[in-house]
Formats: sequence, C-alpha cells, structure tokens
Amino acid sequence: MTKPTSLEEAQHLDLNDPFAPFRASFAIAPGLIYLDGNSLGPLQHGVRERLAETVSEQWGVGLIRSWNTYDWIDLSTSVAARIAPLIGAPQGTVAVADSTSVNLFKLLAAALRLRPERKVILSEKGNFPTDLYVATKLAEFLGQGHELRTVEASGIADAIDADTAVVLLTEVNYRTGSRLDMAQISAIARKAGALTLWDLAHSAGAFPVDVEAAGVDFAVGCGYKYLNGGPGAPSFAYVAAQHLAGLFQPIGGWQSHVAPFSFSEDYEPAPSIEVLRTGTPPVLSLAGLDAALAIFEGIDMAALRRKADQLFDIFVGNVEAGCPQLELLTPRDPGKRGTQASFAFDNAYAAVQAMIARGVIGDFRSPDIMRFGLTPLYLSHQDVWQAARILCEVMSSRAWDNPAYMTKAKVV
Ligand SMILES: *Cc1c(COP(=O)(O)O)cnc(C)c1O
Repeated sequence: MTKPTSLEEAQHLDLNDPFAPFRASFAIAPGLIYLDGNSLGPLQHGVRERLAETVSEQWGVGLIRSWNTYDWIDLSTSVAARIAPLIGAPQGTVAVADSTSVNLFKLLAAALRLRPERKVILSEKGNFPTDLYVATKLAEFLGQGHELRTVEASGIADAIDADTAVVLLTEVNYRTGSRLDMAQISAIARKAGALTLWDLAHSAGAFPVDVEAAGVDFAVGCGYKYLNGGPGAPSFAYVAAQHLAGLFQPIGGWQSHVAPFSFSEDYEPAPSIEVLRTGTPPVLSLAGLDAALAIFEGIDMAALRRKADQLFDIFVGNVEAGCPQLELLTPRDPGKRGTQASFAFDNAYAAVQAMIARGVIGDFRSPDIMRFGLTPLYLSHQDVWQAARILCEVMSSRAWDNPAYMTKAKVV
C-alpha cells in the first residue's frame, strides 16, 4: 500500500511543480476539481478564442474564401503534424478525420486486406465496446468468414497464432486503467505474421507513446480526451510507413482522392496518409483541436507522466488509508497502468454523484466502477489530496445513500 500524504507534503510538491503554471491556461471554475479529463478534456482559453475567431472572422466574414485564405483545406494535416510527436509517429503517417469508431473501421478493413488468408480478429474481453462492435460488424459486412475472438488480457500472447489476421487492442483499459505491453504484444504478433491495430484513446497525451519503437502497424486515438480538443473532436489514425503504399480505404470519399477538386469520376487514391480522409473536414472542430494541442509543444511527456504518478500515489494512498472499503482496480505498478485510478464500490454511481455535488467531478462506469482521471496539466497535488478527502467523507458519512443520487442520467 502507498503511504498517505499530508496536506503539507502536497502543498510542498505544488511549490516545486514545473507544470503548475499550465493550470492558468484552462477555463476550469475556481474550486472545481476535475478528474474526468480522461473522458472529456477541459476548455483552454486559447481554444475559446480560436473558436470565436474561426466562427466570426473566418466563417462569418471570409465565407467560402476561407478554405484558401485560412488554409482550412489543410487544417487536418497541420493537426496531424502536432499529434505525430505525441505518439512517436514520423511526420506523414498520421491523419486526422472522423471519429475513433470510423477510423477503427477504416484501418481494420485495410489491415484485413493485407492478410486475406487469415480470418481471426483477436481482441481483449472487456475492450471498449465500439472496438468490439466495429470488428463484429465489419466481419459480418465482409462476409468472408472473419470472426472476432476475445480473450482475457493474460491470454492474448498465447492466443496469437497462424489464423490471427489482426490483433485489435486498446493499450489502456477504459474501466480499470490497466495497460497492456504494446511493444511486447506487437512483437509477438509480428513474429506470428499478424498485424496490430492499437486504440490509444487513453494513451495519447497522457504519457510518452512511441508507436514506431513499439512496432505498431496501425493505431487510432481520440481528440477529446487527454488531447482536450472539445466534445466530439476528430480522431487520429496512424499507419506504419511500410503499409502506406496501396493502403485500402473502404470509405474512400472524395477527400481521399489524389485530386478532390478535379471532380474526376475515376477514383484515384491520394498516395499519402491523406487517403484516410473521407469527406469535408469539420473545420470548427479541427480549429478547436489545433488550438488545444498547442499546450503540448515542447512538453516533456516523461515528466508529465512522473507528475501523474505522483498524483496517483497521493490520491490512491489517501483513499486507501481513509476509506479502505473501496477496492482499487488499477494496477499499482506504473508500468502496468495508464494515468487513471479506478475503484470498485457497489453504489459507485451514487457516490460519484455525491462527489460531483461537492465539487469533485469523476465518473462512473458500469457496473460498479468509480473512475478518476489524473491529468497533470491542470491538477495540483492539493487538488487530488482534497478529492481523496471528499471521497472518503462521502464514504464515511454515507452521503451517497440519497435517492437524489441514484437515478442515472442518459449520459453517465
Ligand atoms: C473514448 C473511446 C473511444 C471513442 O470512440 P468515438 O468514436 O470517439 O466515440 C474509442 N475507443 C476507446 C478505447 C475509448 O476509450
């Protein structure tokens, strides 16, 4: 067990925190402790200004001219260029378009085409539902006998065999926060002749990621979680350089054409990562994501991760000392987890609502999980110290045992 931290120790860590100045970039209400940046990253002042300018000047005044004057048409390429270093991808191997679900569909289809004789898509039981649904629906749609096989995390390596076409995994589990060994599993897959498609929704922007060093074939990730791009921000897709030539794009809309404005009736794919574009880019969303990513410029992701680990130790250490009835689901070993802390509790939904009423926003995941995202750009050591105190107060006073906290909203 991690030993509890005193308020003085937390305050001392804040005084020596190189990331403390970043808090001022975020529009989080004073006094609010936001532990849900793993689900929806918060607004930055710079993002609000950029969106306002894009709406009033670029759209309002510039109208259609802005596709050229403000280079809207290449905005997704510049956003991709900002994301590439965050995931260890060489320039020209990342595209930004559509949602994570749609990019999963595109890349899984592309990967299956590269292994036509193999029929198994291997994934983890308990993977994020969209990954499993997309794999199932694509297999059904192809009608070529593909099947989705899911196994426990501990059985993945052994389940990769000569029938495996694609290993489809999420690096950090959205419920427990446990992290798979992306490099090791990718190496095993490669040796067996299988391809890998990694979902980095809870990795990109949270800690150093290096898809190239890990030998990943394909990856997708989310723009609105740790990257703070705003609700429904576009997703990113990575394709290892060796798979770029001739990549099959199953939703090859006009923006994936080599020359969209030739309006040619013959489809000729863009000979680059831009082939992953589909239709007209969502300029407002892209502008928000572009502005949100500026904060990552020059950031030391390893140092950011070290602070996240410190936040984890304070939060988890104090929760375990103060309310031992909660069961930690997240691995303690920093190498085996992302940057969230999850606890199991029978009345998790109500307990999270009681915390929100007390100014601490975390979230609930079915069936009984309380989830807390530890995001060092805008959380102080004192914040997580306070959050642990409030959680334990909710537990010891049974504040969760209140009908007002029991009715689930549509979005949980
Ligand atoms: C959040 C999340 C997604 C989201 O996909 P959308 O298409 O943006 O809704 C996908 N995969 C994982 C693992 C996630 O956590």
